[in-house]
Amino acid sequence: MIKNMNYDDLDAFSKKVIKGFEFTDSDLEELLKLSKDEELEKLFYVSRKIRNYYFGNKVFLYSFIYYSTYCKNKCTFCYYNESNSITRYRLSTSDIIKTINVLKNEGIHMIDMTMGEDPYYHSNPVKLVDLIKAVKKETNLPLMISPGVIDSCVLKEIHDIGANFYALYQETYDPMLYKKLRIGQSYQKRIDARNAAKNIGFLIEDGILTGIESSVKSLVVSLRGLQKSNPDMVRSMTFVPQPGTPFENKGQNTNKMELKIISILRLLFPDRLIPASLDLEGIHGMVSRLDAGANVVTSILPNNSKLEGVVNYDRDFEVRERSAKNVISKLEHIGLRPAPQSDFNRIIGI
Ligand code: SF4
Repeated sequence: MIKNMNYDDLDAFSKKVIKGFEFTDSDLEELLKLSKDEELEKLFYVSRKIRNYYFGNKVFLYSFIYYSTYCKNKCTFCYYNESNSITRYRLSTSDIIKTINVLKNEGIHMIDMTMGEDPYYHSNPVKLVDLIKAVKKETNLPLMISPGVIDSCVLKEIHDIGANFYALYQETYDPMLYKKLRIGQSYQKRIDARNAAKNIGFLIEDGILTGIESSVKSLVVSLRGLQKSNPDMVRSMTFVPQPGTPFENKGQNTNKMELKIISILRLLFPDRLIPASLDLEGIHGMVSRLDAGANVVTSILPNNSKLEGVVNYDRDFEVRERSAKNVISKLEHIGLRPAPQSDFNRIIGI
């Protein structure tokens, strides 16, 4: 497929994708197996062409507020799993609002409110509803929540308050791998929670972890699962072994597979939001992910913030470079720019 095409063919191919080209499983396997730099460049080129067709040079920016790192679950890949002896925090509502007040005039398009499945909120969801209410009162910005699997009645209340997006990553649609990653958690309940949120009126984010799968076929299963999930925003993130977790000694892969999957996601979901996270490799990694076809920068934080990320490559850095200002300056350097808020609001239907 792509690897034997010249650049005129690639332009023609990107037009075919925009018109609804359907990829077979063997097409996807072939793309996932691309390995030479020259082949990958072609894949990234097609993805950028498609992204630019829908979004021009405009990029969306989200900040990330990880407001509770407590969790009742034991996901084997996650630093915050309940069994890991780490220092945890749960921010007060006033601390969350202080952070939002710093962020809200910096040019970000949406605030992402994330937590582990913290029993403090999960056993008393009214506290979560009250928190989101307080946050929403403080800002007109669109809001994404990522609280884990929660009851549809609670989701409905949160949606009525004005939250826009519900993020819930399956991590993998390969049931065997899921069992190894999300220990003791129902595969189907996770899908049901996402579908319930969609029926309530939320926009949905779904995502997969890469670099931990046993085979390319397992990734194809996950890509098909994402297509069935049909999210408004779709991501892939590289597995990074975390200290103190059952998978801490698993080998670390390069980001190559994540970049390939970002590009393939662009082929499968041409007009959707696809994030480039700052959480894995900072601004440098943001550029490679945008080059692969992403159109959103996530995990933006004030530079002096002590808040955690999911992978948190800069946990021990004296100064973090994740502010909106750092991001915007780099975007301008590479010929991209932040989209107007009105573009984002149009996409999310407000
Ligand atoms: S991935 Fe989420 S649910 Fe799983 S242990 Fe980590 S914070 Fe908890």
